[in-house]
Amino acid sequence: MAKSYISYNQIHQSIRDAVERYKINSEFKPDLMITITGGGLVPSRILRTFLDKRNDRNVPIQAIGLSLYEEIEADQAAGGTGENIEVRKTQWLNLPEQMSLLNRNILLVDEVDDTRKTLAYAVDELIKDIQAEEVRQGMEPGSSDTKLGVFVLHNKLKPKKRELPDHIMKNYFACVDLPDKWLVYPWDAIDIEEHTELSKSPSPK
Ligand code: 5GP
Repeated sequence: MAKSYISYNQIHQSIRDAVERYKINSEFKPDLMITITGGGLVPSRILRTFLDKRNDRNVPIQAIGLSLYEEIEADQAAGGTGENIEVRKTQWLNLPEQMSLLNRNILLVDEVDDTRKTLAYAVDELIKDIQAEEVRQGMEPGSSDTKLGVFVLHNKLKPKKRELPDHIMKNYFACVDLPDKWLVYPWDAIDIEEHTELSKSPSPK
């Protein structure tokens, strides 16, 4: 598969542009980020730089771990097709007692939306957590004023294997839409100078 190299500077700039373009600070107003490790880590930290503080504090970032690609690779190495591999949790939220998911504007952050399996799984699980907390508080599931949105650096334009619910797609923010190519991120580079040079060659638009 053709590759496209993405530099740190391109990432920084596309996040800045996306925050402006989607008016994220004035419309969605995130007050909690949930990042999918490891691809979402650097993007969520850069994104925080462009988000308005809430009560004079930086928007907190919580991390969750999900695995899909490593499992697919392992299945393929064992002679399988990798097609039937599902996402599984490797790490989940462990919020301090005083921190609630309810009545928050939560932005789920990852680096790339490829088949959408990972995002759809994470969204389903977070909705379950939100509803469970609502029930614990004696509320009807879905009745709190909690917003969940998705922020990704890259969305690959291709048929997706999973869909996101409509109310999530209303708050779906992709910095850049790209054709279906393999994206090489700078945090995976061994030689960052060479990687940055490669990112300057004409990339797929
Ligand atoms: P999805 O569940 O949308 O198929 O895949 C999501 C995960 O697959 C991403 O979080 C990322 O870890 C990995 N992935 C998918 N496409 C690419 C790509 O083009 N480049 C890199 N580096 N990772 C990818």
